[in-house]
Amino acid sequence: MLSDLRGFLDDDEGAVLAHAAGLVATRGLCVEIGSYCGKSTILIGREIQPLGGLLVAVDHHYGSEENQPGEQYHDPTLADAATGGIDSFSEFRHNIRTAELEDCVIPLVAPSALAAQIVTSPLAFVFIDGGHSRLAAYTDYRLWAPKLMSGGILAIHDVFPDPRDGGRPPYEIYQSALASDLFEARGHEKSLRLLTRL
Ligand code: MG
Repeated sequence: MLSDLRGFLDDDEGAVLAHAAGLVATRGLCVEIGSYCGKSTILIGREIQPLGGLLVAVDHHYGSEENQPGEQYHDPTLADAATGGIDSFSEFRHNIRTAELEDCVIPLVAPSALAAQIVTSPLAFVFIDGGHSRLAAYTDYRLWAPKLMSGGILAIHDVFPDPRDGGRPPYEIYQSALASDLFEARGHEKSLRLLTRL
């Protein structure tokens, strides 16, 4: 059951995200930054698998800042004794296998900046949902957004116009995209924002 999967994307956001990926998946690779346990990966994968699309799922699987022990979104069942942190890869892989998406989803277990060196343009779809620190969010935006082809879709999660609702960096990179001449707003659902690469 997808609702049992650990993750922070809500059902309405997930539906909009997957639909957007399906619109462009036949034109090129889809990439997601920040797969965690695979919830969004499965939603996108289910949409694009029948289309012959491919999703590169980028995550180092050591968890974002907020997933670490003692932090707000720490899940003790993902604790990794070897590192003292977390490891979400086993859970991710199990979930992708169970969802029968291993012919559609390509796990790229690496930091976003390293992964960006081997995934070449042009991309049809990029979903940024990685670390929420300013450095992590801007790194993801700076390295991945330019890889999108014209007409490709950039999706950003956890965009909160009101600072009381959440951290600023995803909102800031969304604003940066809007302020650039590379993107225009395409749609939104709760904290999910979609932009079209011009
Ligand atoms: Mg998120």
